[in-house]
Amino acid sequence: MADARRLGAGRLVIATHNAGKLREIAALLAPYGPQCLSAGSLGLPEPAETGTSFVANALIKAHAAASASGLPALADDSGLSVAALGGRPGVYTADWAERQWFEGEPGRDWFMAMGKVEGMLAGIGPDAPRDAAFHCVLALAWPDGGQAVYEGRCDGALVWPPRGNRGFGYDPVFVPAGEAQTFGEIDPEHKHRISHRADAFARLVAEQFGRA
Ligand code: IMP
Repeated sequence: MADARRLGAGRLVIATHNAGKLREIAALLAPYGPQCLSAGSLGLPEPAETGTSFVANALIKAHAAASASGLPALADDSGLSVAALGGRPGVYTADWAERQWFEGEPGRDWFMAMGKVEGMLAGIGPDAPRDAAFHCVLALAWPDGGQAVYEGRCDGALVWPPRGNRGFGYDPVFVPAGEAQTFGEIDPEHKHRISHRADAFARLVAEQFGRA
C-alpha cells in the first residue's frame, strides 16, 4: 500500500449517499480547494459496512469509492461508545435505532435507541459509570491504494431523560465534557466547534492542507 499523500485542488469523491453529510463536508472543505462530488451523483454502489471498527468501515467506504471512480475519495464513519457497555453501540450506533430490528417495521427511532442504552446502564446498576464518547473517523483513499485516516472524538457523559431538540441521533442524552447542556440543547455552531467531527476535520485539514 502506498504512503499517505496530500490532496490537491482536483476532484474529490465524498463517499456518502447522504445529502446532508455531503453538504456539510463540502462546506468544511470549501476553503481548501477540492471540488467535491458525491458517490451518489457518480452512481457508485454503497458497499456493505462489514467492519468491526469505525476505522475499518470508513476505509471500506473510501477505498470502494476511490477504486470505482478512479479519483481520491473521502468517507466518514461515526458513532457513540459507552464505556460501561464495553464501547457499544459503537459501529452499531445507527442500527440500534432501526425499528425493524425490534418491531419488524422500517425506520429509525432515536428515542428507542437512547432508551436501549439507558436500559442497559440501569441493568448494570445505579452506580454504572456514565462516561461516553462520540467518535468520528475520516478516511481518505486514493485509486492506487494509498490511504490516510483521521480520528476525532468528543468525550462526555450520558444523562437521562433526553434534553433538547436541536441536534440529531443521540444528541439529547450526551453532555460534552466541560459543558452543562446536552448536544441537543447547545447552540449548533458551538457543537460544530467542539464535536468529534470538528476534531477529525481539524486533523485532516492540518495534515492535508497544512493548517487547522
Ligand atoms: P454513520 O456514521 O452514518 O454510520 O452514522 C453513525 C450514527 O452515529 C448516526 O446515525 C448517529 O446516530 C450517531 N451519531 C454520529 N454523530 C452524531 C452526533 O454528532 N450526534 C448524535 N448522534 C451522532
